[in-house]
Amino acid sequence: MKAVLLTEIGKLEVKEIPTPKPGKDELVIKMLACGICGTDRHILLGEHPAAMHLVLGHEFGGEVTEVGEGVDFKVGDLVSVDPNIVCGTCDHCLAKRTAHCRNLAALGVTLNGGFAEYVLLPKSQAYLVPKNLNPLYLGLVEPLACCIRGMDLAQVKAGDRVAVLGGGSMGMLIVQLVKLAGASEIILITRQKERREIAMKLGATSTIDPVAEDVTKILKDIDVSFEVAGVSQTFQQACAITRSGGTVLVLGVAPSHETVQFSVYDLLIRGLKIIGSYINPYTQGRAAELISSGKLNLDLIISKTVSLDELPAVLAANPGQGDIKYIVTGDK
Ligand SMILES: [Zn+2]
Ligand SMILES: [Zn+2]
Repeated sequence: MKAVLLTEIGKLEVKEIPTPKPGKDELVIKMLACGICGTDRHILLGEHPAAMHLVLGHEFGGEVTEVGEGVDFKVGDLVSVDPNIVCGTCDHCLAKRTAHCRNLAALGVTLNGGFAEYVLLPKSQAYLVPKNLNPLYLGLVEPLACCIRGMDLAQVKAGDRVAVLGGGSMGMLIVQLVKLAGASEIILITRQKERREIAMKLGATSTIDPVAEDVTKILKDIDVSFEVAGVSQTFQQACAITRSGGTVLVLGVAPSHETVQFSVYDLLIRGLKIIGSYINPYTQGRAAELISSGKLNLDLIISKTVSLDELPAVLAANPGQGDIKYIVTGDK
């Protein structure tokens, strides 16, 4: 089968590798959609740890083509995939902090993932979706699951004023989730005009261009701020605009070497809650349900589809102006 492998830092190659066979409690799916994520770029640049000679891609789903013994899924079922595999037996897993599992493995990060024609996965990682679902949406279930986890931790309440700092796919999903949660104001902050326009169509009540205007002068007393850009400056802005006792929810993946200065005194006096939300424990099923329900507008988020052959060049380049999410599709 065809697969895109990370052969060394900075290098992705399209290669032929053996098509996987399912063992007990495993299944193989034909990849129908796999989202390209900022994390994939970080991995390619050596800014996020990953295994070498590995098939990247952790935001995917597809059609079941083969099942091993002990698997209830049927050939032809459509499934979304939770890429994060936890051990279930370490101290964090036993305490239901599975995002911090000491033996965490992840399809597309430490095990072969979705940038391939076929993918092998344990049955525990597959979530059934309706057969008539637009298969492209399978590339957005995992990022949505991460956003739902962020929502759970942020505890947005009806009537809250919410700021979303960053206009990528996570930002666009968070805008829609906080709208569903009843936020009274949803302010999206991003540099790109095209993205600000899309955010308004998805439920933002206003937007700010952080280059033209000083975010920290315009906004204050925000109840919940979501940092979804993975940039130290937006983190600082998020802290500055959030009210005393409010929540700064960090969802954006910053480069692992990036650090930020902030006032510990300010944190103390204002009682800020700064919460990191990592991956998607216990939320993949809800994400699959929500996407299947049709309540989210995903078509405005998917900017382009990419073939496996095109992927190395696309991932090496910067995304186009105004583009939000690229989805790799399987070969027809
Ligand atoms: Zn991702
Ligand atoms: Zn564990």
